[in-house]
Amino acid sequence: MKVTFLGCGDGFSVEQGHNSALLTFADTNLCIDFPETNHLGLHQLGMKLNQIEHIFITHLHEDHVNGLQKLALFHRVYPGRMKPKLYVPTGLKDDLWQTLRHGLELTTRGKRAFEDYFDIECVEKEFAVSGVNFELVPTLHVPDMLSYGLLCKPFFYFSGDTRLDESYIRSIADEVQTMYHECHMQDDQLPSHTSLEELLTLPEFIQAKMILMHYVDDYVEADQREKFHQVYKLRLAEPLLEYS
Ligand SMILES: [Zn+2]
Ligand SMILES: [Zn+2]
Repeated sequence: MKVTFLGCGDGFSVEQGHNSALLTFADTNLCIDFPETNHLGLHQLGMKLNQIEHIFITHLHEDHVNGLQKLALFHRVYPGRMKPKLYVPTGLKDDLWQTLRHGLELTTRGKRAFEDYFDIECVEKEFAVSGVNFELVPTLHVPDMLSYGLLCKPFFYFSGDTRLDESYIRSIADEVQTMYHECHMQDDQLPSHTSLEELLTLPEFIQAKMILMHYVDDYVEADQREKFHQVYKLRLAEPLLEYS
């Protein structure tokens, strides 16, 4: 299992891509979320959009889904090895199509449906891709908004956008090698995200497993991340670096 961040910026980032991870395993790949900035990240890796085979959507904030329309159209014009397979939490499917349909429904060859672009699997608790199991983890992002992280034992937990769910983090700490956790890294508290202060209250062995993502542009330069690493056990995700 290789994990490569195509972007690790927050929703307002202009200097780095929005948060998304490309998982490479077995004979395939899966992208967690698909912001528009993934196109550049994939280009820098020497990959084209039609090489993306599976996508999981954590929630519908635009910095996590605003590349899906381009991905769908690219696959239609330049078909890849397979039609992209979209794993979407059941309660998000209709709303996701509503955000995409304005650019996808009408074509020169007639009306198209969501299923014409993606092989869609609605998921509730878990799904499997090429023998690897992914468990959906409801997150504490915005009240009443459906949002999820992913647990992929024994490899990783990926928090998605969330406030810190300390009891859950403690409960799975021994079951995964790495925890990719969001952190906005700003002094002010954002009620829908996790602060650095909160993560620093966790036991050190948990902090040592954590790679932070979805962070502000203040840490876009490598030397700023390095300064951070000299002080803390927590690590900041580096775009395009391969984690395993
Ligand atoms: Zn976000
Ligand atoms: Zn969000």
